[in-house]
Amino acid sequence: MSSGTDLSAVTDLEGLRAALRAAERREGWVLGFGLDHNVFGGRPIHHGLIEEALAGAPAFLRLYDGHSALASAAALTAAGIDGPRAFTQRSEIVCDTDGRPTGHLNEHAAMDLMTPVLPVTPYAERRDRLVALLSAMAATGLTAAHVMDLGGHDVPGLLAAIEEDGDLPVRLRLAPWCMPGATDEELDALVRLQERAGRNWRIGGVKFFMDGTVEGGTAWLEHADCHGQGTDAFWPDPEAYSAAVRRLHRAGVGTATHAIGDAAVRHVLDTVETLGAGGPRHRIEHIETVPDDQLGRFAALGVAASMQPPHTAYTRADHTDQWSLRLGEERAARAWRCRDLREAGAHLALGSDWPIAHYDAREVLATARAPRGAASARHGLTGLMALEGMTTHAAHAAGEEALTGRIAPGLRADLTALALDPTEAPADETAEAPVVLTVGGGGITFRS
Ligand SMILES: [Zn+2]
Repeated sequence: MSSGTDLSAVTDLEGLRAALRAAERREGWVLGFGLDHNVFGGRPIHHGLIEEALAGAPAFLRLYDGHSALASAAALTAAGIDGPRAFTQRSEIVCDTDGRPTGHLNEHAAMDLMTPVLPVTPYAERRDRLVALLSAMAATGLTAAHVMDLGGHDVPGLLAAIEEDGDLPVRLRLAPWCMPGATDEELDALVRLQERAGRNWRIGGVKFFMDGTVEGGTAWLEHADCHGQGTDAFWPDPEAYSAAVRRLHRAGVGTATHAIGDAAVRHVLDTVETLGAGGPRHRIEHIETVPDDQLGRFAALGVAASMQPPHTAYTRADHTDQWSLRLGEERAARAWRCRDLREAGAHLALGSDWPIAHYDAREVLATARAPRGAASARHGLTGLMALEGMTTHAAHAAGEEALTGRIAPGLRADLTALALDPTEAPADETAEAPVVLTVGGGGITFRS
């Protein structure tokens, strides 16, 4: 995911071109990630905007939302992408009026066409980078994380190999994807993968996508966005999604579904409503704009909400960003309703299914209390609610409240010592709180 050049600080097209001229070449390729849609200032995303800076090099640049990418002309040629194609999921090779690819690849299936031709990061480098990343996470106070992708390059194998030489600094729970078109046999294979585990990692749950992103025009909305987009689910037949969730539920497997648009959120709640009481727990990731009538359903159905307050920083308070412009005033005013969901009784975990925003636990606690951009200040959580979102409520969302999430006799010793009380200190001080100690399963993973 985060291989190549970090483009997240780029704010306009000139900045993007400068970054691409200076970017490291890997086997001749320019790889980038973290690119903000706002860089294009509302222009259609097109490789023609960057070709001169690349001087013919193949380039594959992931947009920050993880749901789309821009490929250069040489990259399209290398992957044999020369026109539109049909997929079993809502995914698109965006083409101009003459049917020529613009380089904008929307959603997973289109982006996956590039995978076979991209340079592969050598195993030793992947191992070293992963251990360094998990150590850096522990240094911000994180004891555990959910990885909602098994990856194309055998992540369980990588984790098992790391554990032959030492311990993972952060406990990991992995969820494989279930994509549209999955057969019953493929679903049963996902069930068999569950509980595969090492010392400090295990597979638990299955990840779904109900839609894409607002900025990409692929969120599933009750009403179209300002470009007339956003009226389709990622699953061309949403009922097939429901049937897949029901089959996994009967097998005792919980799910996490990416649902950003209001229609996507409603469909996931409708699906869980058909499951009846009891059984494994299900949760929804993101929930970026949700109307009043859906808020109470989370608590009523026992569906956990998982939201990442730092995502609010990708929007602007004056609503001139692509997220707000596409949704329009009414829906943009319902941005990241963390507080309303808590007050409606929902369990709210402060996390994300994908590493879009920075992982720093203190930044999450701070932004939960003082949301940014289009999210109104009244959606800010109390200090205690924010802390619960990273401890007790996070454990509940994972169905692990009897194991972890609190400091109590008999529970796993997963704990973090900050140099201040995050429930009392102002949000900006919490964001910079010194981390004194991080402990995972009784072992020290970070000490200042
Ligand atoms: Zn997601």
